[in-house]
Amino acid sequence: MTKSLIDSHAHLELEPLVQDSRGVLERATEAGIIAVITVGTHVSDAEKALEIADRFERVFVSIGVHPHNAKDVHEGTLAIMERLSRHPKVVAYGEIGLDFFRNLSPRSVQTTVFANQLELAKKISKTGCHSSSGRVRGRSEHA
Ligand SMILES: [Zn+2]
Repeated sequence: MTKSLIDSHAHLELEPLVQDSRGVLERATEAGIIAVITVGTHVSDAEKALEIADRFERVFVSIGVHPHNAKDVHEGTLAIMERLSRHPKVVAYGEIGLDFFRNLSPRSVQTTVFANQLELAKKISKTGCHSSSGRVRGRSEHA
């Protein structure tokens, strides 16, 4: 039986992978991976992720604002994310959540941004893809 795997959490839009998207995907195929969901963690990364998805048939995208980037959310951010979510290759909303270990954004801001994004994900009917619950306990499992 041939394995058919989906990598549900990659960051093809980040360095160094973005420099070798084709090579990364070829090696993934050799390992039995039939599709990759790359996760844009703020607006510009989401846009880069969509550019990659447009180039490669087997790449899909999850978009969202990571808790580390919550401090950078402005009034129009969620509207941009909603617009990007209409792209046909966006299959999930995330990664979102809370990171009270590193606290790269203030906790109160993270909480507000997380709640607002949960509402947006519900509105646009995308499956949530969020940071592990371990983040809330203080561990970071971000890949
Ligand atoms: Zn990640």
